[in-house]
Amino acid sequence: MRLKNVPGSREAVSNSPFVIQDPFAVKGKWHEIFGNDNPIHIEIGMGKGKFLTTLAAKNPDINYIGIEKFSSVLVRAIEKAEQLYDPDQDAVNIRFIRMDAGEIENVFDAGETDRIYLNFSDPWPKDRHAKRRLPGAAFLEHYNVILKPEGHIEFKTDNRELFDFAVSELENSIWHADYITYDLHADSEQMKENVMTEYEEKFSAKGNPICKYVIRR
Ligand code: SAM
Repeated sequence: MRLKNVPGSREAVSNSPFVIQDPFAVKGKWHEIFGNDNPIHIEIGMGKGKFLTTLAAKNPDINYIGIEKFSSVLVRAIEKAEQLYDPDQDAVNIRFIRMDAGEIENVFDAGETDRIYLNFSDPWPKDRHAKRRLPGAAFLEHYNVILKPEGHIEFKTDNRELFDFAVSELENSIWHADYITYDLHADSEQMKENVMTEYEEKFSAKGNPICKYVIRR
């Protein structure tokens, strides 16, 4: 992703009530942050937050946490949340964390999350960067720890090479695909519930087919 420097974004992230400033202190206690025992769904590499804020508004009985490593992008998700909620008055079912996903096991306890979304993850096409790919085996090991046994992972991308890589990472693993498509937007059943991400809007408008899998253990 090409990143613009957004002046004031670091300060906006540091001061936002939607952002958990010390997520390591919250490990194992996310239900206290939300004040309920509702399921926790997370998006890793959330970007500007359209997908997650849309889901949060639709599903008040699910708690959403968006993880993003750059303030310049996260600030756009904060702006969307501010349009939806008054944190002093409303029950807020969305929070954000600015961090690298490599730290995820230090932020969520074993089995603390119910669902993980990966949307249009950075492809990292060079072999020497393969370990940084969010649907790769190293990250699947982290997800295995933080996801409830019955939980699942949903991954969407228009990048066929990354998708083929992600599918190949399932071979000889504990994960199996419940659902897999190479053209999500042609699947009318799935599209009834599909919420488009910023990248999905951009690349599907260019005619790129969207791949998706849902995996479980
Ligand atoms: N999910 C959004 C969408 O579909 O529109 C954004 C997709 S964008 C290509 C990928 C995002 O993931 C970027 O904002 C990037 O900063 C973030 N990201 C990539 N690797 C990450 C990591 N290891 N930890 C946290 N965020 C990451």
